Amino acid sequence: MSAQSKSNGLLDHPHRRSFLRTSSAITAMAFVGTGTLSSIAYADALTAAQREKLTPDDILALMKKGNKRFYTGKLKERNLLAQQRVSAKGQHPAAILLSCIDSRAPAETIMDLGIGDIFNARVAGNVENSDILGSMEFACKLAGAKVVLVMGHTACGAIKGAIDNAELGNLTGLLAKIKPAVAATKYTGERTSKNYTFVDAVARTNVEITIANIRKESPVLAEMETNGAIKIAGAMYNLETGVVDFFAG
Ligand SMILES: [Zn+2]
Repeated sequence: MSAQSKSNGLLDHPHRRSFLRTSSAITAMAFVGTGTLSSIAYADALTAAQREKLTPDDILALMKKGNKRFYTGKLKERNLLAQQRVSAKGQHPAAILLSCIDSRAPAETIMDLGIGDIFNARVAGNVENSDILGSMEFACKLAGAKVVLVMGHTACGAIKGAIDNAELGNLTGLLAKIKPAVAATKYTGERTSKNYTFVDAVARTNVEITIANIRKESPVLAEMETNGAIKIAGAMYNLETGVVDFFAG
């Protein structure tokens, strides 16, 4: 495997090939510089040193850039096998995402990320519970992730189910966690699952409520956010356009 064929999702950069030609000593020195994104060198998978230099806002900006590569059809060439081999010895993900199980909204793909870049928790309707919170606390407090991103998406079946008061086995209880978002969404038009404008408005409210619940129910994460160690943010993925719209939590 040649160095030129390797790629890192979060830290991909047009000049990575020239960086890869530098010696490891020079590469290491690049990290001691200004701390700006342009000074970051590249490896097979995100290293602890690379993550150390990134702020939560940097990480969100890199996700946004990765999504732009996705929706403009300019995905980076990456060597997933190389990332798999290097990351097998340890992981240093920059973020934990909570997103829906929807088959059309795979976070790593739509943000052009590689193996080892993010933790990924998925549950229908991207709602939190104590197990999800425990996963987030592990990701941030123990494993060093700096961003908690809750990502909803348009035309979400779980949101439609909550609006329709659907009932089925264990799904009933899951949808009950989304219903507060239905009630809290201010919308004067047709409040049905057939009106996608309303469905998408509820999905956004659901992300906001989930973020509020994370802060309320996880003192560990709330304290980390207050101290500036992490940022908790929201996003909505548009199935039609491929665009992820990030917003402050
Ligand atoms: Zn969904």
